Amino acid sequence: MALEEIEERIARAESLAGRDPGSVTLVAVSKVQSDDRVDTVLAAGHRVFGENRVQEAQERWSERRPLFPDLELHLIGPLQTNKVRAALELFDVIESVDRPKLVDKLADLISEMARSPKLLVQVNTGAEEQKAGVSLDELPSLLDHCRDRGLSIAGLMAIPPADEDPAPHFALLRKLAERYGLAEISMGMSADFETAISLGATSVRVGSALFGSRQP
Ligand SMILES: *Cc1c(COP(=O)(O)O)cnc(C)c1O
Repeated sequence: MALEEIEERIARAESLAGRDPGSVTLVAVSKVQSDDRVDTVLAAGHRVFGENRVQEAQERWSERRPLFPDLELHLIGPLQTNKVRAALELFDVIESVDRPKLVDKLADLISEMARSPKLLVQVNTGAEEQKAGVSLDELPSLLDHCRDRGLSIAGLMAIPPADEDPAPHFALLRKLAERYGLAEISMGMSADFETAISLGATSVRVGSALFGSRQP
């Protein structure tokens, strides 16, 4: 099945890059996919999934979550402050931390709810106006703000501009992660995850290559 093929491609890319087997996590991006497709991947033993909308994720995962105690759910889409509580109830990893107001809300609710999600800061490496993510200029002050509010940041995430060579964006994200001493680097999607692995990705977010194309 497609899961095995993607896992093999990841293993090959790890090996070509001289990286340890299993050093890259596959986040199966299940947004918009049918429950059937998702259940097939769950049945094959995969446990790490990514969703980009809180409400859609609640609908899909609140029933499945209790059946799979080792599930690891990643929020990979923009997070509005009024959805933070729901996001903290459901997600183990939030990859889209990108502004001070969101950091404040996360800090307040994480302590109130006694949750400890893993947090990544999303960086808008292509300076795209419509895209989420903190700008390169504002990244240092956002990381300071996280530290001031007691939030530990595990790594960085980026989505390169769709119409550009992703490699320079991947290289930049890795450089930034190294500069700020952050271990996790979430980059690479269906079309370019092998390139991302060669440039240091520690997790790749793969949707359509794994589940098939998304029906609108
Ligand atoms: C949809 C999405 C993906 C997966 O995209 P594919 O090209 O289908 O692999 C990865 N990351 C984010 C943030 C997404 O929204």
